Amino acid sequence: MSIKKVITVSPRGFCAGVARSVDVVKDCLEVFGAPIYVKHAIVHNKTVVSDLERLGAITVEDVADIPEDAIAVFSAHGSPPEHYEQARARNVRVIDATCPLVTKVHIEIVRYIKDGYKVIYIGHTGHVEGIGVLAEAQAIGEDVPLVDNIDDVSKIDYDPDEKIVILTQTTLSVDETQKIIGAILEKYPQAQQPAASDICYATTNRQGAIKALAKKVDVIFVVGSVTSSNSKRLVEVAQQEDVSAYLIDDVSEIRATSYESVQSVGISAGASAPEYRVQEIVKYFEDLGATSEMYDPIDENMHFIEPQELTRAKEDL
Ligand code: SF4
Repeated sequence: MSIKKVITVSPRGFCAGVARSVDVVKDCLEVFGAPIYVKHAIVHNKTVVSDLERLGAITVEDVADIPEDAIAVFSAHGSPPEHYEQARARNVRVIDATCPLVTKVHIEIVRYIKDGYKVIYIGHTGHVEGIGVLAEAQAIGEDVPLVDNIDDVSKIDYDPDEKIVILTQTTLSVDETQKIIGAILEKYPQAQQPAASDICYATTNRQGAIKALAKKVDVIFVVGSVTSSNSKRLVEVAQQEDVSAYLIDDVSEIRATSYESVQSVGISAGASAPEYRVQEIVKYFEDLGATSEMYDPIDENMHFIEPQELTRAKEDL
């Protein structure tokens, strides 16, 4: 192996929303005891999910799979309103770990519809975050079109003079989303976006950092699971900068491969990937004789407070 240098870029890995949701499950296990039911993978990372399951969390997909009177954490990606109603009907105590930045989009879509806007939502078909946001609109009688790619823009059939607003999933590619927004604005020049983009700070920062990293290395490994939208976007962003990039869950996926002509390796991690998986990879290359260094082209300092219902539960102890 010819690799001489390994560079870990920051920001990488856990964002504030993921850190909060993982802490919520751990705190619930401590406050209420196991088992704690988690509706949907708490975050889209198989290491994080299996680590929490070892501590006593049980991941389920449907509210119907949560026993009556149980404690349940709803995942960081947000949930449709009917899931809260189903939980209430089963007397399930819900601790909501939805990321506050996802909640913001839930609130926005309802507010814009009530203010008479037609909403266009840019997101990935079938992604659980978009399902939750669009369900908010359906709950008040509005079918909002989902735009997954530029071709979908031609399928939107709003009248040309409607009041229109564009909302987005939080974990999209910043550059790809701008292209889609450009196509929407060609069709509906009056369409507005909220003052701040819904693509979250963590997605934007990790994509900016990996772009800068791509200029310094021959190959990039992004730690993350295939179910993680933001991790997959990081790989794509790196590849668009003309560097080879691979999504891996852990170091075993590097060991299985040979990179004979590579001299420098970059490492990033999706917002749901744990840091210890990154450090295992760094150690792997160090053990092979590579030097390691850090590169932090973008500052990041964000923290979200815990859900109020968890604070109340702690106070009631
Ligand atoms: S990626 Fe962004 S929106 Fe998603 S959990 Fe993290 S901070 Fe929240």
